[in-house]
Amino acid sequence: MDKQDNNKEFDAIVVGSGPGGATVARELSKRKKRVLILERGGDAPSKEGFLATGSILNAVPVGNDIATARAFTTGGTTAVYFAVADLPPLEAFLSLGIDLSGEFEEAKRELPLGVLPDELFGAQAIRVRDSALELGYVWKKKMMLVDLSKCASGYSHEAKWNARRYALEAVAAGATLINRAKVLKALVDKKQAVGVEYKIQRGKKDFEIRRAFGAKIILSAGATASPIILRDSGMKNVANSGFYCLPNFGVFGVVSGLKAGESFVGSMGGELQDGIGLGDANFARTFYRMYMLGNRKFIRAFFHSKSIGVVAGVKDELGGGLREDGRYYKQLKKADLMKLGKVEKMARQIIQNAGGKHIFKSALSAAQVGGVIRIKEHLDEKLQTEYSNLHVCDASVIPEDVEVSPTLTLICLGKYLANHLYSH
Ligand SMILES: Cc1cc2nc3c(=O)[nH]c(=O)nc-3n(C[C@H](O)[C@H](O)[C@H](O)COP(=O)(O)OP(=O)(O)OC[C@H]3O[C@@H](n4cnc5c(N)ncnc54)[C@H](O)[C@@H]3O)c2cc1C
Repeated sequence: MDKQDNNKEFDAIVVGSGPGGATVARELSKRKKRVLILERGGDAPSKEGFLATGSILNAVPVGNDIATARAFTTGGTTAVYFAVADLPPLEAFLSLGIDLSGEFEEAKRELPLGVLPDELFGAQAIRVRDSALELGYVWKKKMMLVDLSKCASGYSHEAKWNARRYALEAVAAGATLINRAKVLKALVDKKQAVGVEYKIQRGKKDFEIRRAFGAKIILSAGATASPIILRDSGMKNVANSGFYCLPNFGVFGVVSGLKAGESFVGSMGGELQDGIGLGDANFARTFYRMYMLGNRKFIRAFFHSKSIGVVAGVKDELGGGLREDGRYYKQLKKADLMKLGKVEKMARQIIQNAGGKHIFKSALSAAQVGGVIRIKEHLDEKLQTEYSNLHVCDASVIPEDVEVSPTLTLICLGKYLANHLYSH
């Protein structure tokens, strides 16, 4: 059924409720703007469990045998993320005409940002850190988005900041949130975006195509989804320079006698050097089990408390593209494969030196897709596309010359866009 709601009732339509979209929606709603959030996923509260996590996780293939993960739910991929909060690359954005410094200061005041106290590091993370330091690697505490007041008994999933909170704050301030609404394209009239077309899922085979109209359209559907929506809205040049996908894998060992509990994975690690990065991969139990089962390590899945892990990744060169049918493709270049070989040796050395036995390397995955949409090429400094009133605010716009865990940067970018769309 094709239904037209031809009333221009929203000041802004935000597509997706991850950190990019939820932040824009929250900021605009607080300014009394009429905001519609269209979210592809459901609205179940974020829980850490097999069923809860499995039902929202989705893998997007980006090349032969390599995929990136995302989550469909209110709050987007932060429902399953680790809460590592690399600081925004202010200089890189400034060189693109975007000053995020004020937004960063505001975010610092609002968010539970800091390094974890020593007592929250589990025995596995400490073992890996000591081994890395002994071998001469830099291994530092990372900034995290963790509410320490919720960590009285140690690790807690609820303590991690999640974009769902911002989405719900937007709703509390008056925004309309529609779940199970998959946006198909922006509606463009004379080079101006006027609304979106979306599919609302009622049952497995029961859906309805709807239209919504608004003054500003903000695509925040995530790094792999927004480029497809843009292309289906008529933009021809998305992914014309290829993309990066940060290929990475884990190296794991078993330490007999080790008895470790849950900890915040990724809260310590090395620094990216010459395009190579190493970090802590000591997951909380549920995620560890899912990860091991995903790698067909059925017995090891039950050895969480004895397992130690290091994640090893590289910054790959731009390449590949987006096929007509909406599938991404990429072949890693020789230089990337050489870097992966080098970082694997380093990771194995850290695990061996920590006393790890039965070492295994996981399948390759893509930590983050980017470079598909580029500021100054596809977007101006207000994150606006070639169509006026159509903006993009999500991980797809993180420039290729920076490598950060993007959540904190996206929160700053969401605030920045809201400031430029409608100032206070
Ligand atoms: C296991 C894991 C661990 C991670 N750990 C960290 C970490 O520690 N620190 C960090 O900074 N980053 C981490 N990340 C990455 C981080 O979660 C993402 O980079 C971030 O959430 C991206 O935000 P976004 O707003 O671009 O997209 P998303 O968070 O993916 O949100 C996009 C939203 O849009 C919705 N959507 C998609 N398509 C449509 C459509 N067509 N119509 C309507 N809605 C749509 C989705 O359902 C989703 O809710 C991790 C990722 C994974 C998978």
